[in-house]
Amino acid sequence: MDKIVEGIRRFRRDIYPGLKPRYDELVKTGQKPHALVIGCSDSRVAFESLTGCGPGELFIVRNAGNIIPQYGKYMGGVTASIEFAVTALPIRDVIVCGHTHCGAMSALLKPEMSTDMPAVQKWVSFARQAKRRIGKEHTHVFDAHLREAIAENVKLQVEHLRTYPCIEKKLKSGEIRLHGWVYELENGDVVEHDETNNRWLSLTEPEEPKRDVSGRFRGTE
Ligand SMILES: [Zn+2]
Repeated sequence: MDKIVEGIRRFRRDIYPGLKPRYDELVKTGQKPHALVIGCSDSRVAFESLTGCGPGELFIVRNAGNIIPQYGKYMGGVTASIEFAVTALPIRDVIVCGHTHCGAMSALLKPEMSTDMPAVQKWVSFARQAKRRIGKEHTHVFDAHLREAIAENVKLQVEHLRTYPCIEKKLKSGEIRLHGWVYELENGDVVEHDETNNRWLSLTEPEEPKRDVSGRFRGTE
């Protein structure tokens, strides 16, 4: 706790003064984030430092496994936060971001690891379709299998987003775009799912066409 309080003091003393004009504007005109991120609660994923975005830019919803229950199946904080962001804020991009080494996805693959966490088991059941989709090729060792589940879960949760009436409406009018990402803890890369060709492309390499890194999720790269 000492570290956290010391950090707050340092923030107020050294960092906040530089941000004061920005906060004055945000207080006066309200928040106008341009992106909604649905990410995992994992402490190793830090969206602002990962994206270089500052206060007022990202509206972030976090939960174990970056899961979005289908609209109407489980109305709770995730549903309300997404609905609010897409309806009331000027969101242009909606990003579902998973990450490698995800504990929630491990719990999905190995339910016996979380028998003492019934709420976790219930929550990750909103991702079980991802487990089914990779179930046919059970030839991998667990680590490669986990990577595949993480990628498949991101694709599934993007599909779940499409069940939201507010998302459907804004997709139709061309006001928002959906993105499925995986952040790779071990190398700092962020990869994006290309829905048209069902492949994963690295976002960190500047060249076009972007590099196809789908092999990373099949254990072949
Ligand atoms: Zn996670």
